[in-house]
Amino acid sequence: MSYAQKVLADVKAHHPGEPEFHQAVEEVLGTLDPVLKAEPKYEKNCVLERLVEPERIIMFRVPWVDDKGGLQINRGYRVQYNSAIGPYKGGIRFDASVNLSILKFLGFEQTFKNSLTTLPMGGGKGGSDFAPRGRSDAEVMRFCQSFMTELYRHIGPDTDVPAGDMGVGGREVGYMFGQYKRLANEFTGVLTGKGLSFGGSLIRPEATGYGDVYFAQNMLAMKNDTIEGKVCSISGSGNVAAYAAEKLIQLGAKPVTLSDRSGWIYVKDGIDAGMLAEIMDLKQVKRGELKEFAAGKKGVEFNAEGRPWQVKVDCAFPCARQNELDGKDAQTLLDNGCKLVAEGANMPSTPEAIEKFLGAKILYSPGKASNAGGVSVSGLEMSQNSERLSWTSEEVDAKLKGIMKSIHDNAWNSAEKYGFKGNYVVGANIAGFTKVADAMIAQGWV
Ligand code: NDP
Repeated sequence: MSYAQKVLADVKAHHPGEPEFHQAVEEVLGTLDPVLKAEPKYEKNCVLERLVEPERIIMFRVPWVDDKGGLQINRGYRVQYNSAIGPYKGGIRFDASVNLSILKFLGFEQTFKNSLTTLPMGGGKGGSDFAPRGRSDAEVMRFCQSFMTELYRHIGPDTDVPAGDMGVGGREVGYMFGQYKRLANEFTGVLTGKGLSFGGSLIRPEATGYGDVYFAQNMLAMKNDTIEGKVCSISGSGNVAAYAAEKLIQLGAKPVTLSDRSGWIYVKDGIDAGMLAEIMDLKQVKRGELKEFAAGKKGVEFNAEGRPWQVKVDCAFPCARQNELDGKDAQTLLDNGCKLVAEGANMPSTPEAIEKFLGAKILYSPGKASNAGGVSVSGLEMSQNSERLSWTSEEVDAKLKGIMKSIHDNAWNSAEKYGFKGNYVVGANIAGFTKVADAMIAQGWV
């Protein structure tokens, strides 16, 4: 049994009932053998044993009052996963499905992702099983205030800097920032994804979706190809999906699908800028469902069943949630001639799907590489907050493009160095791992 296999077996035994966490650890540890064999220092210093154990987990009760005057109780979490290369950094997720397994998987992934960005950020993730859908603004505000009333004592601009994730957008970040400021009596960059008038960065809302498409452009360039004219499927219609669609349209590609919990839409002639603006208003402002958008619209097909992956496309961008694309979906995409899959969500492809993509040798990028644009611009927001300056959209976008290229090249070169040319899974895992692991060794057995 190899060192990585032994640690993985220990994880399964010591973290029972956490399938998402096991899946994420297995996906990374399963690719590290070449570097672990070449560099015995990692085993000697128990780097893997330490990496699979979050540095700290905070769990707390979140009581809040609903609009009827009743008391509601949710559970809040912050997983401060790894601070070897910088303060903990990672989003907050509000969704009924949130549990420790999901947040540990996300914190683990975030550690490698942040390492890849080239910026000094450790890994963290947090959230609650609170679902904002169907709640009034006042309820969301009271929930966010109560959540931050406990969280504020554990975070800080040099300690832990949360951001948004699924179910947490500008509105929620604003409410949490307001409560933090009130409790801590200081105006600091303790959260990213803030509003522009109070320290937010231009291009932060767009960054994950744009970055995903920039990463796809870099992959296509390795085959002397471009994104222009490519027919693309996208899942989700939230923050990441909407801005991936926007960038694809700007670059002359043709996004044909989007999805949400109500189902998915197929627009054969391509979702255009006008349709996308309507969808963004529906999802982000009115908080409605795609089935409302599709109702009675010519050329827009709505499907309550199935997934967008059954459509014939050149490129696919899974941008909704974990494990939303399984082995069967992957086979359908491949049978239909799909040549590129660039993950915008975290761990959207199941292990069976990844195996199929790698087996078929298409261009496939794991989320930790291709969705790192969001946390990268969060890192840039932290820099702007420290400098008390705001950079222009052009400056931030140019930096984002540069970071996505360097993540791409780093993953490509690491894969090639260890004999896995073109395998972005191996490349991203090894590149993300070595930086964190070397910093951990340098800092002693802590
Ligand atoms: P949002 O909440 O803005 O959007 C999530 C989308 O996924 C929505 O369209 C939602 O539908 C859909 N969705 C969620 N759960 C389900 C489900 N069970 N079935 C069908 N559809 C579902 O989140 P984000 O766009 O911010 O995040 C999407 C993914 O990207 C997540 O994996 C997140 O971790 C990852 N990510 C996000 C980053 C960011 O900067 N925001 C950064 C890096 C990664 P509905 O509208 O009906 O709820």
